[in-house]
Amino acid sequence: MAVLNLILVRKFSAERTLFNESWQGTTGMILMDYFKPCITGSYSSVDYWWDRNASSVTDFDLVCYCLEDQGDSILVKHGGASKADLGFGGSTQWSKTQQAMICEVYLTDVIRGGDPRGGADGARDWAVANIIFHELMHSCLDAGPGAPLRNVHKIPNGVLGTDKPLNSSMRASDADKAAMRQGLAARKSGLKQFTGAM
Ligand SMILES: [Zn+2]
Repeated sequence: MAVLNLILVRKFSAERTLFNESWQGTTGMILMDYFKPCITGSYSSVDYWWDRNASSVTDFDLVCYCLEDQGDSILVKHGGASKADLGFGGSTQWSKTQQAMICEVYLTDVIRGGDPRGGADGARDWAVANIIFHELMHSCLDAGPGAPLRNVHKIPNGVLGTDKPLNSSMRASDADKAAMRQGLAARKSGLKQFTGAM
């Protein structure tokens, strides 16, 4: 049985993004609480990490790059994507060139700038955890080869599984968690995560 390691990669300045270690810690705790009821299949438990040695990452882990903005996109730099492919707040794609999943979020979209599409407000931990959970839904459910679901944006009763803008007052619904559970159940041999920019 595997531990589901949620590996958040720190590719940002805490000063510039206003996202310090205290916010980072509570974001990780929120994600753990979101994932705990989703644990099933090959997984026995969930843990989170801010940064981890790339060599320790397995195909059963989930990696999310936390960037300042789209200009730092790992998908564009390493994954063969173009800037026009990127989403607001975050992007997740299976990279054909890397044969690996690349998942990233843009902290400036959700924390700074005051853009209401990103829920840019005081509860930074909830705003960031929500966008990370959304992108990890793509990673587990509709972006990879053999994906179990067609479109994460159309989950019935989905709150985070939606195409609507996310904000910090939203909470993952039972339908979101059931979908993630389905994604983890389908993850029988894992899925390669891109570790080349960790
Ligand atoms: Zn999406």
